[in-house]
Amino acid sequence: MLARRLHIRRTITSQLATQGRHKISSARATEYLQCHDPDLTESQRTVREAIGKICQKYPDEYWLKREKSKAFPAELYQDLARGGWLGICLPEKYGGSGLGIAEASTMMQTIAESGGGMQAASAVHINIFGLEPVAKFGTEAQKKRFLEPLIAGKERACFAVTEPNTGLDTLRLQSRAVREGDHYILSGQKTWITTAQSANKILILARTTPLDQVRKKSEGLSLFYTDLNRNPQIQISEIDKMGRGAIDSNTVLFDGWKVPIDDRIGEEGHGFKMIMHGMNAERILIGCEALGLGYAALRRAALYAKERIVFGRPIGQNQAIQHPLADSWMHLEAARLMLSQAAKMYDQGYEDGEFANAGKYLAAEAAFQACERAVMSHGGMGYAREYHVERYLREVLIPRIAPVTKEMICNYIGQKVLGLPRSY
Ligand SMILES: Cc1cc2nc3c(=O)[nH]c(=O)nc-3n(C[C@H](O)[C@H](O)[C@H](O)COP(=O)(O)OP(=O)(O)OC[C@H]3O[C@@H](n4cnc5c(N)ncnc54)[C@H](O)[C@@H]3O)c2cc1C
Repeated sequence: MLARRLHIRRTITSQLATQGRHKISSARATEYLQCHDPDLTESQRTVREAIGKICQKYPDEYWLKREKSKAFPAELYQDLARGGWLGICLPEKYGGSGLGIAEASTMMQTIAESGGGMQAASAVHINIFGLEPVAKFGTEAQKKRFLEPLIAGKERACFAVTEPNTGLDTLRLQSRAVREGDHYILSGQKTWITTAQSANKILILARTTPLDQVRKKSEGLSLFYTDLNRNPQIQISEIDKMGRGAIDSNTVLFDGWKVPIDDRIGEEGHGFKMIMHGMNAERILIGCEALGLGYAALRRAALYAKERIVFGRPIGQNQAIQHPLADSWMHLEAARLMLSQAAKMYDQGYEDGEFANAGKYLAAEAAFQACERAVMSHGGMGYAREYHVERYLREVLIPRIAPVTKEMICNYIGQKVLGLPRSY
């Protein structure tokens, strides 16, 4: 499979790039899937071409219909599974491709950029980074049991950290897991859980030692990857929301939920550390998903501005239309280059989060601005569903909010980079 062959090509990529053998023309923002970004490695370019080919089967009209019907994009999911892409970052031993976050972020940008936006990206997002804790901290038996069916597209997972009463203050989450012999009993509630309607597995963080009995707040939380059964102990209710209609968001209430000890990942009480492991990767990926939407919006805006004639000339000839779009391209590219650097550093083992967080922040803000400008450049038609940009604008709010808000990123940079007193 293409995804699996890539790791071999990867090693020659940087040599080729430094030897300057590529004749590369500059990016064209009006083309979907221009693959000429001069900084892309050979393996990233291959990912972009292959993913783009799959996504071209799912044009904007498909996503418009999906939003209305609220049906999960199972065809795209299966296409990506068949190509071996669902395990792009997971070990080859379990069916994955063993590639890096650099390639995965190219994949996610390309998926969103097709016009699929967050509906397409969120369908597979969890596969890309979510099971990192299992791959890194799971036992051999767990890796085989959990990773193989996920990568093959036979099982679908969701990821449950956020809680209604504690929000971004994750360490105070209130869900409990109490050990009883060979299992735990879970009780509590989670909110905003993506794809819980259709997932049959859940990665869930719960407190095993009460907060007042731990030395540090980050201790005493445990991580489970287990069956998400439909039984009286678990209630899943969909949240009616603004956009991304094809991908459900849910509250999950549970009481007396029996989870086998074999489904606990790593040591009891060390769950937070394990979740943190995948967090920088997730910020990079969601930043790239935002970028994809930003480029898609810019592409539509530039094409429309060239064609729409008012006062006897294309509206794009007016600098009031042209300059904001040019400005947006520059901001998107700046964020893309930062995220690309963050991904490269992550793949080389860099563990701090300043570049992943900053890149996600800049990408989400630049993409939001690009989407808003795309709507405004379309005038009244920007508000019509058939031009798609209003859908992009509604979806681009997601990477501004999740998995972490811009305010919390500023808090982090203020404390960790500027050395200022912790403000939260
Ligand atoms: C579409 C969607 C999908 C999601 N998918 C998932 C998922 O699959 N799994 C999951 O676990 N979660 C998911 N989430 C949840 C998401 O990660 C949270 O919504 C996000 O982290 C914000 O938490 P909150 O909503 O509780 O906001 P709150 O914590 O209530 O914060 C509200 C506002 O106050 C600000 N604020 C709070 N404290 C401070 C402070 N100290 N300083 C400055 N500002 C502050 C925040 O920045 C924010 O603007 C999803 C959310 C959305 C919208």
